[in-house]
Formats: sequence, C-alpha cells, structure tokens
Amino acid sequence: MQDEQTYETGAGMPAESGGSALNPGGRSVPNQERPRFKPELQTEPGKRMAAVSRSRRRTPVDRILPVLLLAALLLAGVGGGVGIGYLLWGRETASTVDLKAIKSPEWIEQRLLRKNIFSRPDVSMRKVNNIVVHYVGNPNTSAEANQRYFDSLADQDPEQGGTSSSSHFIVGLEGEILQCIPIGEISYANGPRNFDTVTIEVCHPDESGKFNDASYASLVKLTAWLCEELELDEKDVIRHYDVNGKACPKYFVDHEDAWKQFRKDVKEALKNQ
Ligand SMILES: [Zn+2]
Repeated sequence: MQDEQTYETGAGMPAESGGSALNPGGRSVPNQERPRFKPELQTEPGKRMAAVSRSRRRTPVDRILPVLLLAALLLAGVGGGVGIGYLLWGRETASTVDLKAIKSPEWIEQRLLRKNIFSRPDVSMRKVNNIVVHYVGNPNTSAEANQRYFDSLADQDPEQGGTSSSSHFIVGLEGEILQCIPIGEISYANGPRNFDTVTIEVCHPDESGKFNDASYASLVKLTAWLCEELELDEKDVIRHYDVNGKACPKYFVDHEDAWKQFRKDVKEALKNQ
C-alpha cells in the first residue's frame, strides 16, 4: 500500500500539477506538455501494474505472518503467565499451614499484647518459613518484665513516632514461656523478615548471653513444638544474626558449636514428639 502511494505522488502528481500551474489554460500548453506527459502515461500503468502485482504477491505473507506471530506471542504470554501462576499458587497453597488454627498447649502462658502499631500491628502472616531465636539483651530481666515492656510500647504517641519491638514468645529464667502475639500475626523483631518468621526472645542471667538450663530446656521444647506445627525442621531455626547480622543471640553467635548443638537438640526433641 505505501509503495503505491509514494509512486503516485512522487512521479505522477508533480508532473501533472506542475504542468497546470505553469501554463494556466493556453492551447499550446497541452502540446508542450504532451511529449513529457505521454511517456509518463505509458510508463505509469506499467510501473503501477508491477507495483500492484508485487504488492499482491507480498500481501498474504506481509499480513498473515505478523498476525500469526502476534497471536502466538500473546498465547504464549498469557498461557505461560497463567501456567506459572497456577503452579506457584498451587505449590504455595499445598504447603501452607493454617496459622490461625494452631492452638498453643497449656505450658505456654497467653499474655497477648494490646493491638498497636508499635508492637502488635495486627498484620496477618500467610506463611512461616523460619523460627528466629533472640536473647533479650537485658541481663537478669524476667519474661514478665519483657512482656510488659513490649506492651508499654502501645502507649507511645503514633504521631510522634517511637520504638517498634516485639516477639511472639518470651522464654523466662525459670523456663516459663509467655506468648505475646498469635502465630498468625507478624511481630516486630526480625526486619526485614517480619512477614514470614516467628520470634522467640530468651532471657539470660548475665552479659555473656548464655541461657540457663531451665530457659534452654524450654527453648528446645518450644522450638520443636513450633517446627512440628509449622511443618519445619531444625534447619529452619535461625538466629537473629542470620537474618541481618546483629550479634543476637550473643552466646550462639560467639559460640558456633553451641548453636549447632542447639539445633541438634531440637532435632532430637522433634524425633521424640
Ligand atoms: Zn535479636
């Protein structure tokens, strides 16, 4: 189509319009114009025929091929997208635990925080991929005191900003376990992994951060129970340090062997469940 148009305006039209503009209406004009006009009339149909026949020969290829290619690309794109989406969705739903349906046993004391933007933002968690262990970093403080601290963050003025911090569980110095946030909601402890992790804070007697026997035993018990409920294993239990490099829990960062032993103990507890 474009070939034909450029041919007509480029060769035919200037000759015709130029002739009429230079010689407006004289009889001698057609005679002068004829010699130049005639060869063009003769060649024009010939060229046009050639152009038309060429364009006719090209038409099926030019028109159908791009349409077919476009259709194929569209089909591949849409089909691929739907297929991958289905696969991902299917895979995720197949392995997703119903977090809100998990019921804590009686050896976990329910001490839920007030809902607030600083420590219990009431944001649902879809899936838990890791259990993260912390130490409270404040020697000889009780689980109770740490729970009260997290809850007190609710009293900050949201317009002034403030401290954000919390944990799903706190293990105390006597082995007691407090639950501050339901498993189906996020905590503020493992940024940037708050959206898919469960947090355990553990109290400790001194600056070394080493857990006493009672706390350690409860930590192993709680972690194994969580692994069971969340369909995870000891390899999915990580340190705060593994999330963002923070030296927490201090003793397990300073003593890699103690950390490995802890994971072994969780594995053992899982077998016995
Ligand atoms: Zn930490």
